[in-house]
Formats: sequence, structure tokens, C-alpha cells
Amino acid sequence: MSQDNYYFFNEIFWMSLGLIGLLLLGYATGNPWFLFSLGLLAYIFWHLRQLTRLIFWLSKNELDMPPDAGGFWGDVFRHLYRIQRHNRHRQEKLLVVLNRYKESTEAMPDATLILGRNWEIEWFNSKCENYFDLKKKQDIGQPFTNLIRSPSLLAFIEKQSSKNKADAKLDDMGSSQKTLELPSPDNKRILSIRLIPYGNKYLLIARDVTSIQKLKTMRRDFVANVSHELRTPLTVISGYLETLEDHLKDEPVYTNSIHLMQQQSHRMCHIVEDLLLLSTIEGNEQRVLKNDFIDMDALIMMLKKEALVLSHGRHSITAESSGLKWLKGDRNELQSAFSNLVSNAIRYTPEGGLINIKWFIDANKQGCFEVQDDGDGIAEHHVERLTERFYRVDVGRSRDTGGTGLGLAIVKHVITHHQGKLIIDSRLGLGSTFRCEFLQKMMK
Ligand code: ADP
Repeated sequence: MSQDNYYFFNEIFWMSLGLIGLLLLGYATGNPWFLFSLGLLAYIFWHLRQLTRLIFWLSKNELDMPPDAGGFWGDVFRHLYRIQRHNRHRQEKLLVVLNRYKESTEAMPDATLILGRNWEIEWFNSKCENYFDLKKKQDIGQPFTNLIRSPSLLAFIEKQSSKNKADAKLDDMGSSQKTLELPSPDNKRILSIRLIPYGNKYLLIARDVTSIQKLKTMRRDFVANVSHELRTPLTVISGYLETLEDHLKDEPVYTNSIHLMQQQSHRMCHIVEDLLLLSTIEGNEQRVLKNDFIDMDALIMMLKKEALVLSHGRHSITAESSGLKWLKGDRNELQSAFSNLVSNAIRYTPEGGLINIKWFIDANKQGCFEVQDDGDGIAEHHVERLTERFYRVDVGRSRDTGGTGLGLAIVKHVITHHQGKLIIDSRLGLGSTFRCEFLQKMMK
């Protein structure tokens, strides 16, 4: 017999037994239905009594021992007590976990917020009070973007949320924008903001990167100052060397050494110029982009001409431009970045090689500039380090061809600053493709 049937039949059995007993007693005393009704009433009364005891016991909401009751009701009280104890135990365990979680989030060195679907603040840890000047009592429920009024934060948050709406390609392209650096409202700190979507909510983490930023600025300023200080003496040395070369051109003993000295001083001038350019670009990452409209058809033709001059007929050079032709950005920066890629292709492709310069619109309607060569290619383990400053695969070859080791670092910075991505695809012995993909919508 199943458990519920057992309770039912057991109760019916005892109730019937009692009533039959009363009926028999009634027949014996001549008042059977009176006693039967009295028994029935007593039975109903007993049930009502147990029910009120149950309600009273439950309403206390404390883990007291249940009231003593016999039969059917005794089991009800026992089972309820067991469930209550089990729940209380779980509640205590959950509370411990919750407290531990609260303690760990409070101890976190970063400010952490949970934002709802419409950027309303659901929860934040105490670091947010320092970093964003938030107040627990009044700011919970307020949209975060209303409290921290920053156009770049709004743009970042909107971009991240639109990325979340399943545009995987965009997500990939925007990887450089996964964090946003922002001054805190009191301007005492630089915060690096990350937005992590989960379910219908967002976790916003803000890290204090003031000291890292200071160090970066110090390093940049140091490099810029050293380069700047070196520029003048180097120009003077180059000038004197030129004069010396003119004066001593009939003295073969000196000509060779002066020529070598001149070569080295030109190399140093190049390095200094590139370092200055890099520190200018790096130092101005937050600057507003120039909005030149660059005619890519014309630029591709110009790059081809430049390549032909550099190659001296040693390579076969092709150029193609298709699709929408206007690219928006800083003309000088983009032109020098593209030239750099073309000049690399020429310098690192052996004689007889094929170089193709291309501008096209890809399947995602994004403009792509590409330089492809069938030169020696680059081994896989070098590829991801190529954009580091002074990283060269073959130092000797780079120097021989007038390289400074800074070209690709500059290119990467310029392209990233134009909301683009530099993609390097290279196979040893098969050649390389350097592609700049731009996120901006292309115009006719
Ligand atoms: P460099 O001034 O030395 O050319 P870059 O930053 O422009 O410095 O390039 C870094 C390194 O990447 C180069 O030293 C070279 O080894 C490699 N590299 C760049 N472009 C190519 C290419 N098209 N083919 C093969 N190797 C290349």
C-alpha cells in the first residue's frame, strides 16, 4: 500500500471503529444516533483543534518543537518539523556562502557593479563609493549612465551591449576596445573599465590603473625627451659628415669611413624620428581623430608608384582597388602606415617576387587594405610579436635594408586608433599578407 493510501485507510479505520463503537453503545443505551452525532462532532472538533494548533505553530516562524498530537496529525507535525529543520539548515548554509561572497567582493581590489538590462544599478561593492562616488541608499536602482556622465563611457557601454546582441564578427573586431580608460568623477584616478555580460545583466569592473598610467606616461615622456634631445646633435653630426665627405672626397683613406659614419648617423636619425612618431601617436590615443576623406583609389595608385621606385624593377608589383573608395581618418597617419607595409613587402621579398597592393570591401562591408607578397614569409612563433617595438625576425637583414624595428609597432597603433585591426598572415617560405581591417561603415 502506498504511503498516502496508508494514511487515508488508517484514519478511516480508526474513525469508523470509534463511530461503530458509539453506535453500539447508543443501541445499548437506547440513543444510538445521538451518540453517533456526538462522536462525529467530537471528531470534527479534534481536527479543527489540531488545525488551529498547526496554524499557530507555523505563524510563530520559529524552529520550536511542534505541538504534541496523536495519529494522523502527529505525523503531519513531525513531517513539517523535519522539512522546516532541513530548510533552516539550507538557509544557514546559504547565508554562510553569501557572507563569504560578500566578504570576498568587498575585499576585491576592484570596484564591482551589477547592472540590469537598462544599466540600472542592482548592486555594488564599497570600492564603488570611492571610485564613482556612489551611495548605497540613493543610487541603487538608478541608471549607471545617468550617474556617471561621460560620453566615452556611454559609447563604450552601448558598443559592448550591441556586441552582446550576437554580432560575433564585431566582437572580434572590437577586441582592442574591451576595456575603457576613464578618469574617475573626482579626477583623482584613472579607471580601466570592463563590462562582462551574463544572463540579462552586466558585471562592470573598474580597476585603478593610475600608477600604471603614470609609469607609461613617464616611459613615453622619457623616450620622447631622449629622442628629442638626440635629434639636434644627430642633425649637426650628419651635417658635418656631409661637409667632411665633400672636403675629403679625394682622400680614399677617409672616404670609406666617413661614408660608413654617415650611414650610421642616418640610421640613428631614422630611429629617433620613428621613436618620436610612436610616442606622439601613443601619447595621443584619446585624441579626436582627424576626419579626412581619403580617396583610396588615388592612394593605392600612389602606393604602387612608390613601390615601383623602391623596388627598382626587382619585383612584379600589382595594385587593385575596388568597392567604395572613401576612407575616413587622418590622411598622413594612414598614408605612412600603408607605405610602411608596402616598403616592408619590398624589403623582405627576394628579387623576382610578386607584390600585390589591394583595397577592397569584405563580406561585412568593412574596408580592407592589404599588402600581399610571396617572399620568405615569417615563422608562426614570430608573427604575434612582430608589432612589438624593436622586434625583428632577422636583425641583420632589417638593418641592412634600413629598418628600425619600429615600423609595424607604428602601423598597429595607427590602425587601432582608426578603430581597425592589423591582421598578419604569414607562412614560412610562402609569403605574407598584412591586412588592415577598418570597422567604420564605408561610404560611396
Ligand atoms: P623593420 O624596420 O625591421 O622592418 P618592422 O616593425 O617594420 O621593422 O618589421 C618587424 C619585422 O617583421 C621585420 O624586421 C621583419 O623581420 C618582419 N617583416 C615585416 N614585414 C615583413 C614581410 N613583408 N615579409 C617578411 N617579414 C616581414
